[in-house]
Amino acid sequence: MNERWALGVDLGSVTVKFVLLDGEGRVRHDSYLRTQGDPVQALSGGLGEARAALPGDAEIAAVGTTGSGRHLAAAFLGADVAKNEITAHAIGVLAWRSDIRTIIEIGGQDSKIIHLTEGMVTDFAMNTVCAAGTGSFLDQQAFRLQVPIEEFGAFALTADHAVRIAGRCTVFAESDMIHKQQAGYDRAAICRGLCEALVRNYLNNVSRGRKIHSPVSFQGGVARNQAILACFREALPDGEIVSPPYLTGCGAVGAALLAREHVGTGPTAFCGWREGPFTVRPGACTGCVNTCELFTLYQNGRPLARWGGRCDRGNTLGAVDREDVPAEGR
Ligand code: SF4
Repeated sequence: MNERWALGVDLGSVTVKFVLLDGEGRVRHDSYLRTQGDPVQALSGGLGEARAALPGDAEIAAVGTTGSGRHLAAAFLGADVAKNEITAHAIGVLAWRSDIRTIIEIGGQDSKIIHLTEGMVTDFAMNTVCAAGTGSFLDQQAFRLQVPIEEFGAFALTADHAVRIAGRCTVFAESDMIHKQQAGYDRAAICRGLCEALVRNYLNNVSRGRKIHSPVSFQGGVARNQAILACFREALPDGEIVSPPYLTGCGAVGAALLAREHVGTGPTAFCGWREGPFTVRPGACTGCVNTCELFTLYQNGRPLARWGGRCDRGNTLGAVDREDVPAEGR
């Protein structure tokens, strides 16, 4: 009998993360891909990598999704559960360290803070618009400053001081950085100043004065940047700030664990190793006055999955309101 593994997928607006957990719940595969504006293609690519990483004596027995695109990912994969990011990140990090009290998560688009007490979520907050897009903004500035994003943190840490950058929002920060460059400031010191500004902005706009209890788990794509980690340690000197080994995959791990628990020893809804090409078309459900916007995934003109409706009636293929998706949208 094959070992029962679980697949977890965290589909965000900028990246998609895949993890595979073995029968003991250990992370055996962890991938991170940019969606590049085509989440279905990114899902297809991540699924192919997961398939290649799955040993011959294992099978996918549970699938969980999370992230802002969790319903799309769930429809694409045939997921057993689609969970919100707060729950998934909390479960994912607690599986690594059960004593974590605060999660600082900064991704491409969203930032969040999650407070935990004895393994339970007691409070959380998401970014305001002024702290949105931190990861994407870092990417843009790294490109503009001609520093590879993978090296941005190490480069910023070569500066012996930070240039103060206005960090109230990305618009202010960019114009201030350009001004500092024109004034002749050192490039590494500007990079370090940007990291400091983003940390200030997070503390002002996301945690908004909430007490940050230690130990803190810093995770998400931006946690790869060692200069941002250093700036958090400077800003919160009394706390222990650590990052899990799968620092971009915590949400996916949580989703996989929740799916495993949900399925138990029963069958999974996983619909197999889909391969493209795929298209996604919008439509509308007229099943009731809500007229939900629906999205349908097609492969060679054949509908595979639908999502976006507030109830299963709209999301079910073959439901009466399927006819309401305009023909040109198929
Ligand atoms: S998906 Fe459900 S809630 Fe939305 S319009 Fe259709 S029937 Fe109404």
